[in-house]
Amino acid sequence: MDHYRHILVALDLAAETDYIVEAAMRAKSPDAKVSLIHVVEPLVLGYGPDASGSAAAVTAKIEADSIANAKQRLADIGRDQDIAEENQHLLQGHPARAIHHVAQEEDVDLIVVGSHGRHGFGLLLGSTANGVLHGATCDVLAVRLPV
Ligand code: AMP
Repeated sequence: MDHYRHILVALDLAAETDYIVEAAMRAKSPDAKVSLIHVVEPLVLGYGPDASGSAAAVTAKIEADSIANAKQRLADIGRDQDIAEENQHLLQGHPARAIHHVAQEEDVDLIVVGSHGRHGFGLLLGSTANGVLHGATCDVLAVRLPV
């Protein structure tokens, strides 16, 4: 079997981030391209369309801060792993859908996600890892995370 040419590493930027990145780097062949993706989910704070100007401003500030933090985290990982800025994807929206979109746009042949390997309710509620696996048009590597 040929090696994977383009690996997309999906990161929620939680505590296990380095573990997932390191697993992806171990799995890759020397000439494979590696990209990172983080998706910032929209904030649901219970403010409807009638939210006051100050509530909307608070929401916008929190979102802007989380985007700026995520951008910095991706840049730090990119610097450590030699992944160029153009291959660090930061999107807003639904994580699994955004990951599928970028995977198709960028001709990715392997998506790497972390998995806590939960059963029962975890599966019933549908995790992001599950969502990525089910709609993917390429292979998906689920890295089993330490509990
Ligand atoms: P979860 O299904 O929430 O337990 O997350 C499993 C894995 O999906 C994480 O370890 C990441 O690889 C990926 N993932 C979850 N949320 C995001 C996100 N917002 N952006 C990118 N990848 C994510």
